[in-house]
Amino acid sequence: MEDLVSLCKRRGFVFQSNGLYGGTQGLYDYGPLGVELKNNLKAAWWSSMVHERDDVEGLDAAILSKPSVLRYSGHEETFADLLTDCRSCKSRWRSDSLADSNCPSCGSDDLTEPRPFNLMFKTSVGPVDDDQSFAYLRPETAQQIFINFKNVLDSTSKPVPFGIAQIGKAFRNEVNPRNFIFRLREFEQMELEFFVQKGADEEWHEYWVEKRLDWWLKQGISSKNISLFEVPEKDLSHYSKKTIDLMYEFPHGLEELEGIANRTDFDLGSHTKNQKDFKINASVIDNLESTAKLSVLNTKTNKRFIPYVIEPSAGLDRGFLALLNEAYKKESLGNNKERTVLSLAPHLAPIKAAIIPLKKNNKALVNFAQKLKADLQALGLGRVLLENTGNIGKNYRRHDEIGTPTCITVDFDTLENGTVTFRDRDSMEQSIISLEKVVELFTKTIKQT
Ligand code: ATP
Repeated sequence: MEDLVSLCKRRGFVFQSNGLYGGTQGLYDYGPLGVELKNNLKAAWWSSMVHERDDVEGLDAAILSKPSVLRYSGHEETFADLLTDCRSCKSRWRSDSLADSNCPSCGSDDLTEPRPFNLMFKTSVGPVDDDQSFAYLRPETAQQIFINFKNVLDSTSKPVPFGIAQIGKAFRNEVNPRNFIFRLREFEQMELEFFVQKGADEEWHEYWVEKRLDWWLKQGISSKNISLFEVPEKDLSHYSKKTIDLMYEFPHGLEELEGIANRTDFDLGSHTKNQKDFKINASVIDNLESTAKLSVLNTKTNKRFIPYVIEPSAGLDRGFLALLNEAYKKESLGNNKERTVLSLAPHLAPIKAAIIPLKKNNKALVNFAQKLKADLQALGLGRVLLENTGNIGKNYRRHDEIGTPTCITVDFDTLENGTVTFRDRDSMEQSIISLEKVVELFTKTIKQT
């Protein structure tokens, strides 16, 4: 983990948040390369979950949520960890993380009984700061999908089964944020709520587990590091009939990367008005405040019903960490030399190509490189960078370390014969190719998965 944290800081992937003032636990900022990698990962998810399907629509809802949303979702009541305080050193621990009845920090056995601690952040809304005018920072993106269920249905006329996908920030006041970007207080989720008929739910649940596992493998997670874990009944969330977690072998241990839950009709049932008009299976919260029925018409029976929901919910930051962990390698080059290489899948690499003029002050070379950069950038395959520092070897090392799949060197032969040197990150092979071939080879390299 230390190697990854150090690379992230040194090369500009991830920085401690509020670092200038000592930092804040559980908050991180994504730097110039981190934001590119994160955006590429989001784009890959969005493409697979929305663009490649006709049965899923996207959403980007507000973060500040009215308390009623999180009351009827069950979060106000149940979204809590049990905590134990040490009376001696005043440290606070998740009760389930205590191996025995002693404080892990000072060893004292003077501990309080476990007490529930709600994980939601509150903020005041409007000019008055009182108990009535507050909002929660959403603890998951899912709830606003349920709140918008009718809006999306009315505006798209989708028949069940269909889904709504969203990527966005979520906030949890985690007691012990730790393990770099694994457990954060502010993080991003990529969530799909997929609405199905009761009876078809178990089959769809299996479908999504398989689909999501396959997707992570395509992003570069190796099959030996990812496994399925069925959450035992006693540990299921209040809304879940069955949850399968995709577990990843993180540098600090095997932990959840994504959860795929069968949320039954709990969510739409809890947020609907006139609950008695429907046969809701989940034990829902009585709702006299909702203004809409969250149901669909069964065209065969001509009766309205509340769909079940299958939810694949992935953590973007955990995905980022897992993919960096997979890609990070130290390779021996012989002669006691080694290189660090980040073999990210090309579609995820922050920079797709570095264009390097052999000499930084040579106008003709630099002009040529600038034009090549603009041409490759215009292909829309991601960021192409002009590296005008004149040190080819150093540039190769740097771009290996940040995962750039291709380096293209412009030299005097380019001006004379129209050829460039095309270097492949993984094999380190360098081939002299004609300029006409560059677009083809570059496109092929970046589009491979
Ligand atoms: P955990 O048991 O690790 O706390 P969870 O079961 O509470 O996770 P979910 O509520 O299922 O997590 O959230 C869905 C996904 O969101 C998780 O699989 C994870 O990838 C991500 N996630 C949840 N909490 C955090 C966090 N504090 N920091 C970063 N990612 C998180």
